[in-house]
Amino acid sequence: MSQHFFYPLSTVVKPYPWGSRSALHQRFHVPNPDAQPQAELWMGVHPAGMSQVMDQGTPLALSELIARDRKGMLGAATAARFGDLPYLMKILAADRALSIQVHPQKAQAEAGYARALRANEDIPDYNDANHKPELVYAITPFIAMNGFRDVADIVENFRLLAVTALSPAVDALAQQPDAVGLKVFFSTLMQLSADAKAAALKRVVSAPFDDALMAVIQQLYQHYPHDAGVLAPLYLHCITLQPGEAMFLYPGTLHAYVQGTAVEIMASSDNVLRAGLTDKKINVEELIACTTFSPISRTSLLMEPEWQEGQAHYPIPIDDFRFTVLNANEALPMQTRSAEIVLVMTGSATLTHPAGDTLTLQTGQSAFIPAATQNWTLTNTGTLCRAYS
Ligand SMILES: [Zn+2]
Repeated sequence: MSQHFFYPLSTVVKPYPWGSRSALHQRFHVPNPDAQPQAELWMGVHPAGMSQVMDQGTPLALSELIARDRKGMLGAATAARFGDLPYLMKILAADRALSIQVHPQKAQAEAGYARALRANEDIPDYNDANHKPELVYAITPFIAMNGFRDVADIVENFRLLAVTALSPAVDALAQQPDAVGLKVFFSTLMQLSADAKAAALKRVVSAPFDDALMAVIQQLYQHYPHDAGVLAPLYLHCITLQPGEAMFLYPGTLHAYVQGTAVEIMASSDNVLRAGLTDKKINVEELIACTTFSPISRTSLLMEPEWQEGQAHYPIPIDDFRFTVLNANEALPMQTRSAEIVLVMTGSATLTHPAGDTLTLQTGQSAFIPAATQNWTLTNTGTLCRAYS
């Protein structure tokens, strides 16, 4: 195979029903002739959505390209530490809420995946042995629920909800305002009787919550009027990321993305445990086992980048991935530290290697850059993001 310095990626689009029918097509020029939901576009080597490159005119799985020369493709450090591309990047376009979910820690994923292989389940809870910390970077205003509110806020919200059947649980939480109390309270909400759930859902759309909270509740209720997940805005932070804002989620953080378009980068994993707002498999018991029942302060939700020469570096607290956003540049010198994926978010970008290899990418297009490419230059007219490790 001839040596290349840049490999344009052919990517997999996931047609999950919550996906937007227009966002990926309009913003990123992803073909969608039948106006079907297009939820996620995957860039990486996860078997559930493998990217492909061209090898002398023939499509080749990105994982196979990497397997030909792991050190050259991944870089020595990443090859030794992970053995494969350690991250998965996505464009995510949500028209309505994704499930309330938690991603496992590494040890939980390893044990859960081993169990799933032994049990040979039709729809396993674990699809791989990896953890799934993730960063979400907003392209449009992006509404999300993320992390537990302060217990005092949760108690206040449920007192305003004023559903008699929930009163004992709310009183108990007020008396034990810690992780144990929160876990008991959440478990109770997940196991409400049909009558108590109906009463709570009837009341939640008419209780005197502020407009911002009510907007999220209405958005959920519209699609899931019988799902206890509609109560989630009462105990999770509701946040709207503005374009260019990002947040990082540790494994164990209860969350649900509600609406908007974003770039998401995560450890290469598809492990999702769900508690509601979905037609997919729900496993409350396993979700509870993987959830960290500690409130998060609202101010810690946003991740502030460190700016260096027009590049925004996000201080990711794990090893699996790094993420940088670049504004327009003219012949900016670049250096690969490991295997990179670049994605053009707006405008176009031209990647040039001194040996003569040049690749131009349009909005929505992405490329894999082997670690061995080393020095190259970037000229881009809009914004571009880089994933690496
Ligand atoms: Zn998630």
